[in-house]
Amino acid sequence: MIRYHNTATRAIEPFVPLDPEGRTVRLYTCGPTVYARAHIGNFRAYVFEDLLQRHLEFRGFRVRRVMNLTDVDDKTIRGARTSGVPLADFTAAFKAAFFTDLEILRIRKAEAYPAATDPENIEHMIAMIRTLVETGHAYHADDGSVYFRLSTFPAYGRLAHLNLDELRPGARVSQDEYEKESLGDFALWKAWHEADGDVAWESPWGRGRPGWHIECSAMATRLLGDSLDIHCGGVDNIFPHHEAEIAQSECCTGKPFSRTWLHCAHLLVDGQKMSKSLGNFYTLRDLMDRGYTGREIRYALLSVHYRLPLNLRFESLDAARAALVRLDEWIARLTAQAGDASPSIAMPVAGLDGFGAALDEDLNISAALAVLFEALRESNRRMDAGNLPPSDAATLLAWWKSVDTVLALGPEVAAIPEAVAALLASRAEARRNKDWAQSDRFRDEIAALGWEVKDTKDGQQLRPRANSANHP
Ligand code: AMP
Ligand code: ZN
Repeated sequence: MIRYHNTATRAIEPFVPLDPEGRTVRLYTCGPTVYARAHIGNFRAYVFEDLLQRHLEFRGFRVRRVMNLTDVDDKTIRGARTSGVPLADFTAAFKAAFFTDLEILRIRKAEAYPAATDPENIEHMIAMIRTLVETGHAYHADDGSVYFRLSTFPAYGRLAHLNLDELRPGARVSQDEYEKESLGDFALWKAWHEADGDVAWESPWGRGRPGWHIECSAMATRLLGDSLDIHCGGVDNIFPHHEAEIAQSECCTGKPFSRTWLHCAHLLVDGQKMSKSLGNFYTLRDLMDRGYTGREIRYALLSVHYRLPLNLRFESLDAARAALVRLDEWIARLTAQAGDASPSIAMPVAGLDGFGAALDEDLNISAALAVLFEALRESNRRMDAGNLPPSDAATLLAWWKSVDTVLALGPEVAAIPEAVAALLASRAEARRNKDWAQSDRFRDEIAALGWEVKDTKDGQQLRPRANSANHP
């Protein structure tokens, strides 16, 4: 049974999907605000969500994940204005960079990446706001904007465990982000302001633009339905963003918005949240320029439990590199040992089921990785002792492949350079002519280029040589 820590209850609870067949999981993950390159802190959240999705899939669920792109809000408009380019052009570059980074970090693609400015999303936001106005949950204020009437939703603050009586909600807030101290009716639709330039849409309340919070409510319910199984983000999203999402969605649909809320702790730099505004951030590019691979960065982000703060240090990236080298050596060794053998039925090492079981328990990645590295140690010991039959090696390899559908930490499959491919073809020709001496010379030339060729019943098999430059 899978159990997660639900922010709504602050308890670890069994996970049961809303789907009556128990198969499909609807997951909404707050995506980036595309006004800058996402930093490694943002990617901590996305890597955690990737682990969540991959583990659910490992357990046989079908995951329908949606991640939004916030391409209109206070920050994007400010950025476009400062750069002197249209909003759509300004955000397009950051959207493209985001997708490249997702791929580098091996984050599985979501089913959809709706952007707030997509016409169908703007339409849905306006429809939701209209419903909220009609039912008295929102009002068109004298400043031209539409606000959510906080007093109509007593559950506001429940997710963040705020005591509204103590906080005494006061004036209206028009900014997308606000502190608990300035709690008040928040903006759903913001009347056009000079600073918005040409960023505006027509609405029943005049020209304007949506507030940040309604964007997520609209995109989540439009694409996944009124009730979600899981909604995720970083802990900074809990208040006010997720509180606002709950208020808007539930007042519109009359149904619970999300059954489970999962939030990851922050990525820290010197004890402080990594953030654009503090200027203490690294992008993926910054770390890659220092020589780290996407895979090493993924490992460093993935290997700390999502509810623990993660202090980013170069030492952790170096440790990730060392762990991956061990993993690569192990995989290469197992592959050689397995040869063409078929996997045995019995598990050659005890406790391998512990991997999935650890992740079932609120994504306990440290315990899951401990199972992997114990399997590695034990099988290496047995290979040292000449005591791991090929069929057992094949079983371990098959197990590794299945756990790597969750971890996505396997070696890069390096592209075969043209020169190596040409030598390989010449070698095949030499072997057809039974010119073994020539065949061996080609093998040496291939080896000099960093590749190893093996002859199997299916023909030549090529792989990067361990410790060669091609081997990441
Ligand atoms: P933003 O673009 O600021 O809306 O953030 C996008 C996502 O990244 C949200 O889910 C945030 O909670 C998350 N996030 C932002 N900064 C950090 C950080 N330092 N550590 C972990 N998650 C973060
Ligand atoms: Zn959101």
